[in-house]
Amino acid sequence: MWLDDGHYKKVLDNLYDGIYLLDDKKRIIYWNKGAETHTGFTKSEVMNMPCHEVLRHVDDKGIVLCNNDCPVSKTIKDNKLREVDVYLRHNEGHRLPVSMRIAPIKDCDNQVVVAVEICGEGSPKYTLQQKLKEMKDLALLDPLSELGNRRFLEMSIKGKLEELKRYNWSFGILFVDIDHFKRINDTYGHDSGDRVIKMVSKTMSNSLRSFDLMGRWGGEEFVVVVVNVYEEQLYAVADRLRLLVEQSGIVIDSESVNVTVSIGATLGLPGDDEFSILKRADQLMYKSKHSGRNCITMYRDETTCSMP
Ligand code: GH3
Ligand code: MG
Ligand code: MG
Repeated sequence: MWLDDGHYKKVLDNLYDGIYLLDDKKRIIYWNKGAETHTGFTKSEVMNMPCHEVLRHVDDKGIVLCNNDCPVSKTIKDNKLREVDVYLRHNEGHRLPVSMRIAPIKDCDNQVVVAVEICGEGSPKYTLQQKLKEMKDLALLDPLSELGNRRFLEMSIKGKLEELKRYNWSFGILFVDIDHFKRINDTYGHDSGDRVIKMVSKTMSNSLRSFDLMGRWGGEEFVVVVVNVYEEQLYAVADRLRLLVEQSGIVIDSESVNVTVSIGATLGLPGDDEFSILKRADQLMYKSKHSGRNCITMYRDETTCSMP
């Protein structure tokens, strides 16, 4: 579809991430809705204002960057794109951690303009990047899948059980195991096996809501923690993941390779600890294997029931 400039501007205006433009004197000449949401400053409050009078960025040591160390000034000077983590001043006075991407562009008259993209708390990109960094720092990250590792999962489930007992906030877990994965390794080699593990983990993690959690339990096994669900919704999430994995694949030596997963699903029960719930989900997953694989077995009211 062909879009004219007006359409592009409308898209830019309404983006969730904050975007603003500065002229070569660092005056604000464009300010979108996302910038208003992130900073609390409306467009009319900031237009034509020098950037340092509005946002006054500081680094993590509290040093004001506007005078000598302004990343925008650096980009105006060297025409290079840069990404920095800073704290900007919110209209309500508090400091806000944001990731900024600063890009040199030229306007219609060939004048240098600087585009700044701010990614703040709550923005999916920021949240994911922050989460990954924090997990790396705490040794909770599985490097192959870039998901949480077993320790991360045990800690997360422990936290969810606390919430269940204290506030009655329900949650469920899915134990997911790739079917006949050994065949993939044996047929295409270990590196291709790794690619399949990544493919499955991306397919599933991309289709979860941002507040659900997922980690790699080990080998070709994953655990998903689905919050605020009851049996029907938990089953629906499991089935969506199963179908999406079935529909994804990678190409190895011009051959399309697909896999399926078997899933064990259970809600957290008040008497559980992190080990009992994981054990139950693992046993349910094995029932799915025995029922022919590519299916879900779910714990329901003291009885298990297998669904195709
Ligand atoms: P099932 O359908 O019963 O689950 O069969 P399966 O072949 O998937 O099960 P099995 O547990 O026998 O095989 C899992 C294989 O996964 C064995 C192991 O060599 C392989 N594996 C474990 N970790 C990794 C890894 O990080 N990368 C690769 N490529 N393979 C791995
Ligand atoms: Mg396994
Ligand atoms: Mg397996």
